[in-house]
Amino acid sequence: MNFQKNKDAVFQAVQTAAEKAYRSPNSVNVIAVTKYVDSSIAKELVKTGIKHIGENRVDKFLNKYRELADQHLTWHLIGTLQRRKVKDVINYVDYFHALDSVTLAAEINKRATKPIKCFLQVNISQEESKHGFLVDEIDNVLEDLKAYDKVELVGLMTMAPFEASQEELEQIFSEAKRLQESLVARQLPNMPFTELSMGMSGDFELAIKHGSSFVRIGTAFYK
Ligand SMILES: *Cc1c(COP(=O)(O)O)cnc(C)c1O
Repeated sequence: MNFQKNKDAVFQAVQTAAEKAYRSPNSVNVIAVTKYVDSSIAKELVKTGIKHIGENRVDKFLNKYRELADQHLTWHLIGTLQRRKVKDVINYVDYFHALDSVTLAAEINKRATKPIKCFLQVNISQEESKHGFLVDEIDNVLEDLKAYDKVELVGLMTMAPFEASQEELEQIFSEAKRLQESLVARQLPNMPFTELSMGMSGDFELAIKHGSSFVRIGTAFYK
């Protein structure tokens, strides 16, 4: 695998997508998802100029966090988090992307020693198999989350269904953007909602078109 070539191709595609959308390339953060590879390979990838690392499972997150401790990285936990594992990991996480229940937020609030930047996961497509809050639930959820001062809601995260068409992707991403902007406008304390985490290897260009500020890219680095 030629990591430098893959990294350059991904970052070039991100830059092109940003420019097409009249956005600064600096407004899009690329999270390199390392769940497919071990720490030694992740280290090779990081050497090409990676700043953000994402893992979707607690055990693998902690393993990489230990092995890459000296690399000055920003650490993203992007996958579902079980309540009983919160205490093991939450204080090592810079951004948690998958806040999908109020009870999980309560546990994070209890275990965190500092405010944790969290993305509220929304299930825009209303797929039953997907995690995340339905759009209609969000008002009530925000009311419940007010009490948790260690849960800082920096943005929304969404995932599109695997089989989504271009048109469905556009719909999901633009709806997420609209929702995110409406939340920013509310100016709620500890809930800035300025960020949008959406876009993976297959759809990041479209996500950037619709305002994504964090793309989570795995497969495209390991070709
Ligand atoms: C694996 C994963 C990604 C990366 O997906 P690719 O298609 O490999 O780029 C992004 N987000 C989450 C939550 C993931 O689990």
